[in-house]
Amino acid sequence: VKLEEEIDNVIGKLEKIKKIQVNTVLDVYVPVNFKIQELVDPKTYRDRGNKAIELLEPKLLWTIDQMRELLGPITINDWLWNKDEATNYKYSGFRPKHTTVGTTYSQHRLGRAMDLKFKNHSASTVRNIIRANPNHPAFQYITCIENKTPTWVHIDCRPISDKIKWIDP
Ligand SMILES: [Zn+2]
Repeated sequence: VKLEEEIDNVIGKLEKIKKIQVNTVLDVYVPVNFKIQELVDPKTYRDRGNKAIELLEPKLLWTIDQMRELLGPITINDWLWNKDEATNYKYSGFRPKHTTVGTTYSQHRLGRAMDLKFKNHSASTVRNIIRANPNHPAFQYITCIENKTPTWVHIDCRPISDKIKWIDP
């Protein structure tokens, strides 16, 4: 699929789901498109089970569900079915105290960030789509995105007024 067609296709979907309701308060959200194991690491899941959902920002959980509907399959963590320890993803969502992956004050440690790998789109295409449609309801809670990450898209819901802050990691 050519890049232009790919973008047209997604923009078409953006139009279709424009009626997503705008939530001003979102206290609780359980994602329908992701298992909790895809959002936390194995130890956190062993320790907390489904209560690990309480470590994650509801606005972020809602956002990844919308992005799955809009942009197709997304890998966050895949340790549940990819047992290859050298290549599987364990810390693309919540990052617990017991890992040294990432920076000390990363939004991942606060349950407010996800690194998304898209099956049908490159990371730069997804960033371009969001850049061109920052006010689409599906993206309403994203406050920060990292530029230039090669194979993944980092989104987070840090409590800032920017809409959307683009940072160099
Ligand atoms: Zn990240």
